[in-house]
Amino acid sequence: MDPLLIVLIVVVVLAVAGGIWFYAGRNRGGQVPPEVSAHKPTSADDVLLTPPVEEAPPQAPQAPAATLERPESIPGRMQRLRSRLAGAGSFGKAILSVLSRGDLTEADWEEIEDTLLTSDLGLEVTTSLMDELRTQAKVLDTSDPDAIRTVLREQLLELVDPGMDRSLNLTKPTPADGWDGAGGEPAAAVLMVGVNGTGKTTTCGKLARVLVADGKTAVMGAADTFRAAAADQLTTWGERVGVDVVRSEKEGADPASVAYDAVRQAAREGVDVVVVDTAGRLQNKAGLMDELGKIKRVMEKAAPVGEVLLVLDATTGQNGMRQAQVFSEAVGITGIVLTKLDGTAKGGIVVTVQKELGVPVKLVGLGEGADDLAPFDPEGFVDALLG
Ligand code: GDP
Repeated sequence: MDPLLIVLIVVVVLAVAGGIWFYAGRNRGGQVPPEVSAHKPTSADDVLLTPPVEEAPPQAPQAPAATLERPESIPGRMQRLRSRLAGAGSFGKAILSVLSRGDLTEADWEEIEDTLLTSDLGLEVTTSLMDELRTQAKVLDTSDPDAIRTVLREQLLELVDPGMDRSLNLTKPTPADGWDGAGGEPAAAVLMVGVNGTGKTTTCGKLARVLVADGKTAVMGAADTFRAAAADQLTTWGERVGVDVVRSEKEGADPASVAYDAVRQAAREGVDVVVVDTAGRLQNKAGLMDELGKIKRVMEKAAPVGEVLLVLDATTGQNGMRQAQVFSEAVGITGIVLTKLDGTAKGGIVVTVQKELGVPVKLVGLGEGADDLAPFDPEGFVDALLG
């Protein structure tokens, strides 16, 4: 045979054998996508219906999640703040130091009276408290400091009035309260009022933290539109605990409209509480009344405002009381937040303000720290005053 023909036959045989080997290898080697191989088609249609293998869409780069702070729990903060209140109670300490002298002279009694007066208890309350202390000393036939201290504690507690309801009304309004259901389910509304500088914005932020610590959701409204810094301050407070702040970018915008937007957003999002901060310029009483009245009326178009909290700076004494009267006339007050009690010996203001305004102190500010706000506890307060 022609050698050339032999070479040709060998090449053809090798090519055919190689093709068969390659084809068999493909079916054996598992290169078919597993999704398809897992599916056993029973007909040609099944093959067509088998979904094509989709590639995952490209992922947008994700911003790192902001770490939210976990505010201190309410029992925890009360424990911690008690010592700060004790620092505020130097009037109690002054009285106790007089009492510790033993048998009380007339000069000692006068010193006690002076101390009570400088603590902002007011003349009327101090006079009746002194009368009661002297009477009890006579009745008990003693000037023993421990016995007088016990009487003083009872008297102060009675003046602070432990029977007042100091809980915040954070119950969501029901349709029976007169909302139409449009725009969602309204949140419990808290309106914060008071003179500038008393700690309103700070208290809104601290309150948002109390709410978050209590497992509630909230929205804040920056209706102090005269100070851009107030809205910025509130936004920072909100960001730290994941609470949205509704604000207007326009300085001097209508505060009532910002408050209304906050209430509507809270309803849309179904949050538990909406807290609205306001401005407190006092130069024009009529203007202030109009403004606060309008904010409250506009908020109440959506649902009733459950709490109107008056923020009072405990260090301002009787002057603060006059301001409080103006606010209380402008807009019905349901509770008082007494701030800066950490820096004053004027604990007697608690008694005076409740008596004059007829509403309870519900919260106290005891420092500039984020969690330095606590519910007011009469027994703890009086014990801290008396050491
Ligand atoms: P606003 O004008 O009423 O909103 O007052 P701010 O919230 O801006 O507070 C005025 C100042 O008071 C700030 O420096 C706060 O840190 C301070 N402040 C607020 N509450 C307290 C408090 O309970 N204790 C102390 N020591 N300072 C406070």
